[in-house]
Amino acid sequence: MPVRSIVKIDEELCTGCGLCVTPCAEGAIEIVDGKARVMKEELCDGAGFCLAVCPEGALTVEKREAPAFDEDAAAEKIAEKLAAHVTITQTCMNCGRSEDDAVLFPARHRGDSVWVCVKCLPQLIHG
Ligand code: SF4
Repeated sequence: MPVRSIVKIDEELCTGCGLCVTPCAEGAIEIVDGKARVMKEELCDGAGFCLAVCPEGALTVEKREAPAFDEDAAAEKIAEKLAAHVTITQTCMNCGRSEDDAVLFPARHRGDSVWVCVKCLPQLIHG
C-alpha cells in the first residue's frame, strides 16, 4: 500500500453535523451513527477541502499507508450523489449568496469555519 495524504476524522470532536459531506467532491465522507466517516479510503484524495468547513476542528490530513486513490470509483460516487440530490447548499457568510449563484471558498474566520464568495473574500481578508 502506498504512503499518501488522507483525511483523518477525530470521532471525539465530531458532532455529526454533516457540513463536511458536500465539500468532499469524491463522496468519501458519510455520516454513520452520528459521526463522519471516510467510508472507503480509496475515494479520499487527501486534498483536504473538507477541513475548513468543520466547526469542531475534527478534520485533519495525515500521511500514512492507505489504498491508492481510485479516480474512476470517485467519479461514480459523485454521480450517485448528484442523482440522489444528497447535498447541503452552502452560502457566503457575508452576503448570503449560495453556491448556486457564486463561487465559494472555505475559510477560517475568527475561529469559525465559514464559506465566503469570491466577491466578499477581499473584504474578509482586508477588513
Ligand atoms: S463537519 Fe466536522 S463535526 Fe461536522 S460531521 Fe464533519 S467532521 Fe463531524
